[in-house]
Amino acid sequence: MKLLFGAECPGCGRPLAFTLGQPEEFRCDACGTQGRHPPEVVEQLRKADDLLRQSDARNRQFDGVQRFSLRASGVLLGIYLFVFFVAMVPAGCSAGCAVVHSVGGTPAGVMMMGLPPVILFTSGVLGLLILLWTRRSLREKSAAIPPAAPGAPARCRVCGGPLESTATDVIVRCPYCGADSVVTRGVLAGLHGRLQLATGHYSDVVSRSATAIGSGLAGLVLFPAAVLVVPVVSFLAVASLFTFYIDDREDPPDLSARYVVETVPGVNLECIGLVGRSGGRPSISFGFYPREIGDSGAYTRSLVNGAAPGRMVPITDFVGRTVYWAPSMDPLRERRWTVTGAFKPPLHNGNVLRLQPEDRPATQNTVEIGRAMVCFPPGESGS
Ligand SMILES: [Zn+2]
Ligand SMILES: [Zn+2]
Repeated sequence: MKLLFGAECPGCGRPLAFTLGQPEEFRCDACGTQGRHPPEVVEQLRKADDLLRQSDARNRQFDGVQRFSLRASGVLLGIYLFVFFVAMVPAGCSAGCAVVHSVGGTPAGVMMMGLPPVILFTSGVLGLLILLWTRRSLREKSAAIPPAAPGAPARCRVCGGPLESTATDVIVRCPYCGADSVVTRGVLAGLHGRLQLATGHYSDVVSRSATAIGSGLAGLVLFPAAVLVVPVVSFLAVASLFTFYIDDREDPPDLSARYVVETVPGVNLECIGLVGRSGGRPSISFGFYPREIGDSGAYTRSLVNGAAPGRMVPITDFVGRTVYWAPSMDPLRERRWTVTGAFKPPLHNGNVLRLQPEDRPATQNTVEIGRAMVCFPPGESGS
């Protein structure tokens, strides 16, 4: 709330701002009522005026930084919102990854991708609130007292004297007390309903509004930037940690996971299946069909009535073998691969095989059994 020293107008009942420059009389800008103050009011106003004269006028004037804050707070708000939304794009992608991953990933993996966007969003909103609050408080403190009626002058925020202003002025200096006040229409309109009439204690009200207002730069720039930059930096740090360390880590495979080799209909090859559960029932997952089959689904065979699957082997049995596997768009039989390792990445639930193309030994790929279809060339299944 912004304090306005004065009284209710005896003519129209609206708040009437007193003027230190004219301590004996008043004139209502709204209804034109004029009159003289009672002696105790005149005495109080004179006392307040004396206090103001003894204090340094520079305290009630805006320096370069404050002028910059007042003029640029809207632009700073726009810049902040822009950066916030731009930062939310990769964060949103990461959140999407977390959702996708929550189907087959570990809780650690989901958290790793899901937490940074949540933190970034929360701190971004916090920064926005700080910025909005600072901007509002700064505008409120620096604003002139709005005109009491259309066409009437705005009044000095410190002494209540009328301000001369042209339409282009943003900041106007009071000819009587030297205080600066912001007179832009938007700022004055923002005070609507936020003016409080202080009757009596005029010296207190005047000396409070005569003290220097801060530049607000901390709340407009420093804090919002910090709460936005810190999560972005930690987000990038986590992402690079993920790429350079964790995702490349090869933990020993889970040997309790069991695999079978069976012919997959349609593909007509013997493929590796993961023995597990699907929809609560025992089943074997062979992963997604290759593209040439024309079926975008995965092949899963359920084990009816607890029927035992064929010979079950641990994942390490496949190391050193030759297999067919294809990235999503390629035919399954296009390339033969050698299995060079079996391990469990920290952020997956299932084991993966590391494959090396026979014709390009320098490259390699990892595939998760149960999600990717890995099959044996005819006669090489070994079963
Ligand atoms: Zn009036
Ligand atoms: Zn003034």
